[in-house]
Amino acid sequence: MSNTLEEEQAISKKAQKVDSQQVIKDKILLLVEQSLVFEKQNDDKTALDLINKAWQLCQNRPTLECDDTRLLLLQKLSKLHLERQEYKKLEEFSAPLLELSRKVGDTEKEVSALTNLAIARSVASDYKISMPLFVEALEKSQHLGLRSNAANCLINIGTIYANVFNYDESLDRYKTVLNEYQDILKETTHIAINLNTGSLYYASEQYPLSLDFYKRALKMAHLGSKKQFSAQALALISRTYLAQNKLGDAISTANEAAEFTKELGGNAPGRQINLLNLAQIEFLKGNTEGVAELALRGIAAARRVKDDASELRGFKMLSDIYRKNGDFEKALHSKNIHSRKQEDYLKMQRNMHALDFEIRYALREKEQKIEELLKENRLQGMLLERNSQIEKQNEQLRQANEELQQFAFITSHDLKEPLRMIGSFAQIIQRQNAGKFNEDSVSYFSYVNEGVTRMNSLLDALLQYATIGKLDLELESVDMNEVLRNAKRNLTLKIEETDANILCGEMPTVNAVPSLLTNLFQNLISNAIKFRRNEGRPIILINATEQKKDWYFTVEDNGIGIADEHKERIFVIFQRLHTRSKYEGTGIGLSICHKIITQLGGKIWVESEPNKGSTFCFTIPKKTI
Ligand code: ADP
Repeated sequence: MSNTLEEEQAISKKAQKVDSQQVIKDKILLLVEQSLVFEKQNDDKTALDLINKAWQLCQNRPTLECDDTRLLLLQKLSKLHLERQEYKKLEEFSAPLLELSRKVGDTEKEVSALTNLAIARSVASDYKISMPLFVEALEKSQHLGLRSNAANCLINIGTIYANVFNYDESLDRYKTVLNEYQDILKETTHIAINLNTGSLYYASEQYPLSLDFYKRALKMAHLGSKKQFSAQALALISRTYLAQNKLGDAISTANEAAEFTKELGGNAPGRQINLLNLAQIEFLKGNTEGVAELALRGIAAARRVKDDASELRGFKMLSDIYRKNGDFEKALHSKNIHSRKQEDYLKMQRNMHALDFEIRYALREKEQKIEELLKENRLQGMLLERNSQIEKQNEQLRQANEELQQFAFITSHDLKEPLRMIGSFAQIIQRQNAGKFNEDSVSYFSYVNEGVTRMNSLLDALLQYATIGKLDLELESVDMNEVLRNAKRNLTLKIEETDANILCGEMPTVNAVPSLLTNLFQNLISNAIKFRRNEGRPIILINATEQKKDWYFTVEDNGIGIADEHKERIFVIFQRLHTRSKYEGTGIGLSICHKIITQLGGKIWVESEPNKGSTFCFTIPKKTI
């Protein structure tokens, strides 16, 4: 009664727990839905507050058994922090998102976590960590067909390479994005990649190609009325024309850029570049008036946007302008700043080259790790395949054995019936014709009777062989002392008749089937007695020794022994080494022993020297098979 009460209490407690869990889950989902509404209204802040609330609910109940809810919240938190460019927070939530998504096998969320982590690390200029993360995210995105994420990763990888001055690798990634992912690129991203590609060609002084990409970007910017990009593209185009000494083209594009910049105000992208373009143009035209001011404004603008390359260009220009103006002091001063800046710039470039090497090393290491894992997986796959092959073979073997056993059983059983008939009718004929038969006929009939008796005992033996031990043996602890006692009791007559001396050592307890082991010892002892030498009484020693994995038994006799060439075939059914007139038998005893031991997972063999004796050895595994 009290048991039932306790059970009921436990069930109700469980139900309460399920109930309260459901309530929390519902609350969380409601908050998520509300947050979505604010997200759609571009109110990221409120959306984030709501998700934070939901996360608190989740955190306060660590027993909440729902990975799905946690995953959902972590992903929302990461996404919102990414949009708000809060990279520390982004990392804080992406790390557990990665762990959990891996745990539950949600690859899509795993990819998004990898990408977010990579972005957070990349913003912190930790390219050594972010690059392998991007590469992993890219591979997984491509595998899952997440094209937009794949493109995002490629762009980021390209940008990192550009930042470490590895232009070839960077170009390679940007071109892949432009060739393979153009259809899904946002307009502004598409323009930005064209601009970046143009700048990479510019940096490697491939001006025609550089112009090609800048102009593509410009066309798209114009078409989409993206004035910021138009301004930037024009400034870059003008700079390229200057590098090519195409002053006319440089002037017209610089002026166009200036128009856009004026419209956009102080923060127009590319403003620093165009100010320097204008200064260079004036300088090239031979003007001196106001040129230094233009260059100085360009330098200031470059500083504001941390464009080191433009700053450097500005100081070089400034020193040339001052020199031309005859202001050698200022020229020298600018030249000194330029030299210092150039040194810093080169140092930074060298550091970045070193970082590029480190990144590539990190990537190779990761690749190697993945390769090792793949190799391991392949090996395991092969092993699994092999195991399943073995299992299949075992099953086939099991079936074949079963069929053979049935066949032996049916034939031995069914053959006995007609044999009985032959025997009975032979006796009837003999009885009815008693005294009428001549001597030959009498001896013929005795052959018939002998044949019938022999056939009978063969069939009995065959039946016994067929029926011993099914494959699923039920093992139990067997005291071998007891087994031996039973075997000897069954052989009492033979032992007494021959005055056999059987000496047994201490026997262990093994895992087996008692009736089978009695049968085994009976066969071995009766053979040891049967195949005795004419002189002397049979002496039989039976011993057991413990080994690492099994018990080792020996049945030693002082009989006729067995020649080397017969040592294996005597275990095969119906194989005998002597005529029946010399030693009675069916040739089945040892095959039964072999079958018993094999089924127990052990081995049996004979060691012998003709005319000295034989030792039958067998093992029985200690562990249950
Ligand atoms: P069977 O005893 O009915 O002939 P077994 O299968 O028991 O059949 O033995 C097969 C053959 O192995 C025997 O005919 C005999 O030649 C040989 N053999 C078995 N046990 C001994 C032994 N203890 N000493 C010598 N020969 C043996």
